Amino acid sequence: MQPDNGRRSLATLCIHGGEEMDAQGALHTPLYNHSTFGFRSTQALLDVVEGRTEGNLYTRYGLNPTIRAVERKLALIEGGEAALVFGSGMAAASAIFLAQCASGDHVVCVGDVYGGTFELLATNLPKFGITTTFLLGHEIERLAGALTARTRLVFFETPTNPNMEVIDIAATAKIARVAGALTVVDNTFASPVNQSPLALGADLVMHSATKYLGGHSDLTGGVVIGAQALVRTIVPWRKNLGQAMAPDVAFLLSRSLRTLTVRVRQQNENAQAVAEFLATHPKIVKVNYPGLPSSPGHALAARQMRGFGGMISFVYDGDAAATAAMVDRLRLVAIAPSLGGVETLATQPITTTHHDLAPAERARRGIVDGLVRLSIGLEDAGDLIADLRQALG
Ligand code: PLP
Repeated sequence: MQPDNGRRSLATLCIHGGEEMDAQGALHTPLYNHSTFGFRSTQALLDVVEGRTEGNLYTRYGLNPTIRAVERKLALIEGGEAALVFGSGMAAASAIFLAQCASGDHVVCVGDVYGGTFELLATNLPKFGITTTFLLGHEIERLAGALTARTRLVFFETPTNPNMEVIDIAATAKIARVAGALTVVDNTFASPVNQSPLALGADLVMHSATKYLGGHSDLTGGVVIGAQALVRTIVPWRKNLGQAMAPDVAFLLSRSLRTLTVRVRQQNENAQAVAEFLATHPKIVKVNYPGLPSSPGHALAARQMRGFGGMISFVYDGDAAATAAMVDRLRLVAIAPSLGGVETLATQPITTTHHDLAPAERARRGIVDGLVRLSIGLEDAGDLIADLRQALG
């Protein structure tokens, strides 16, 4: 198999990108669970240690054939020069912040973010002198004023979790660049099938690979993708904090990525059908889905995304208990946190992803008691709608 030239289409890259046929003729890179790799000479070892040759050395360093193969594939899929895989999405996020920021540095976080990311920025990183200004998604006009001489990163998700706001990647990156800050996009919700932040001007993209990239709710991982020089700054942090992805997870992730385009395109289609049904239901106050023309983010999403994604949130006409009772009536849709898998999941953000947010912060972000988030899977859309209809009553 020839190495990929990076000009093939996404569906082809998902299958063949980064793969090398091995000596036994395996079509995809096999699982090397080995922790260390041997050399014919000290010089050959030093060539890898000192970066003159690419090669395998020690798995915690990420220098393992299975890990390197999935990284090549992910870099091609996101359109970046290099990728690093991690043991979780939060490991990827924390490595970015620690690698890019020193004590006294500043981050601007735009829009809703995953509760764990919020906690990392609001509670953990200030212990090391790294502070964050949080802007709401619609406060983008305040971004230029929030950037200081010490702002290193502008960080956001789009669409956002859980309110599905759409943030303008190109416009945000432009403002950040003028101030000398890097733009980091958590592309987990959109997936590389629906959105390419690097092509729109972002400097780094991260994912919780646990979600669409893994796609089957059976692995935990993270990835950071970007220009080689930038990604290289994160390597020592991953190495010394011991955050690399395990080879068996990398193998499973690589297998999942081969079906990424097929899965996500069907999830887009199913989500559109479910969102259109929810938008007509009398017990629903509001549906947040960028694929609905009534959604405030629709026009921007139509410009910067190739598909509207599989994530929906809606506000049920009821308090926390009535909303929980409605969710409990679901039969096919499972009650679970997480997203991006083949099975449809429902969660009330106040009970899971945003449970630990102070009530005032939740209120500021519109994370209300009746809010329900759906991760739409690959079941038949008609069956999903029937289940939601009976639960809504
Ligand atoms: N980013 C987003 C958008 C998420 O939804 C999550 C987890 O739900 C994370 C990051 C963290 O990923 P992980 O659970 O793999 O650490």
